[in-house]
Amino acid sequence: MSGTEGVIRGTRLPMRAAIVSLLGAALAGAQAPQAPPNMGDLKAFLARRGIPSGVLTRAEWGAVDPKAPLKAMPTATRITVHHTMEEFPEGLPDSIGEMRRIQELHMRGRRNACAELFDDIGYHGLIAPDGTFLEGRPFGSLGAHAGGVNNRENIGISLMGDFRRPEDKALGAVEESSRPGCEPAPVPLARGHSPTPAQMRTLEAVILFLAEKHDWKGPASGFIFPHRHFRVTECPGAALLSELDGLKVRVDAELPSLRGR
Ligand SMILES: [Zn+2]
Repeated sequence: MSGTEGVIRGTRLPMRAAIVSLLGAALAGAQAPQAPPNMGDLKAFLARRGIPSGVLTRAEWGAVDPKAPLKAMPTATRITVHHTMEEFPEGLPDSIGEMRRIQELHMRGRRNACAELFDDIGYHGLIAPDGTFLEGRPFGSLGAHAGGVNNRENIGISLMGDFRRPEDKALGAVEESSRPGCEPAPVPLARGHSPTPAQMRTLEAVILFLAEKHDWKGPASGFIFPHRHFRVTECPGAALLSELDGLKVRVDAELPSLRGR
C-alpha cells in the first residue's frame, strides 16, 4: 500500500498536470464548439475568389424574425441543393422581393394551401440569378428543407428559379397535404428556367466556404446532395441536376487548395 502510494506520490504532480491538461483540452473541445460560419466570413471568401456578386444578410434584404427560436445545429456534414420552383427574378431589387415572398410562403403559406409551414425560411441561403447570396436561416440553426431527420447536419441552399423541364411536371401534381382543412394546390407547369453561370459560380464558392469551415474532405459526392436524394421530388429540377456532376468535379479539384490543408 505504502509502496504504491510512494509511486503515486512521486509522480503526482506531473500526472496531475497531465490529467488537468487532458481534461482542459477535452473541456475546451466540449465547451467551445466551432462557431458557425457567418456572413462576414462568407463575404470575404467570395471576394477572395473574385466573385462580383455579393452577400445580403437578413437585415439587408429585410427578413422578418422567426416565429419561434430555431433549433441549433452545432455542426454540418453535408449540403443539399434545391431550386425554389418559383420565379426567376431579374436584378437585385426583384431578387430581394422574391426572397421576402419566399420567406412569407415558408412561414405563412399560400391561402388554403397545404404546404408545411416553418418558423422561418426553410433554407440556409438562396442564390439569385445574378449570383447574389441571400442569407436564409443562420448556418448554425437546423434547417427545414430536406424533411425530418434528413435536415440533421444538413445545410440547405436553394437557387432561385424553376429548373424543371416541361416533361417533368407529372412527378409533382399536387402539394403534399399535411394540414387538415386545406386544399392541395396544383403545382404550376414547369417554367423551364436554367441556372445561370453566376448562380453556379456562387454555389461552388459557398460549398468550398462551408467545406473549409467544417473541414469536409472529398470526394464531394460524399457531402453534396440534390434534394431528390432524400425523397421523391423533382427538386432541384432536371436543368440544375445535370449541373451537379460537373460542380462536384470542380469542388474536388479545389478542395486541396483550401486553407489549412
Ligand atoms: Zn428542394
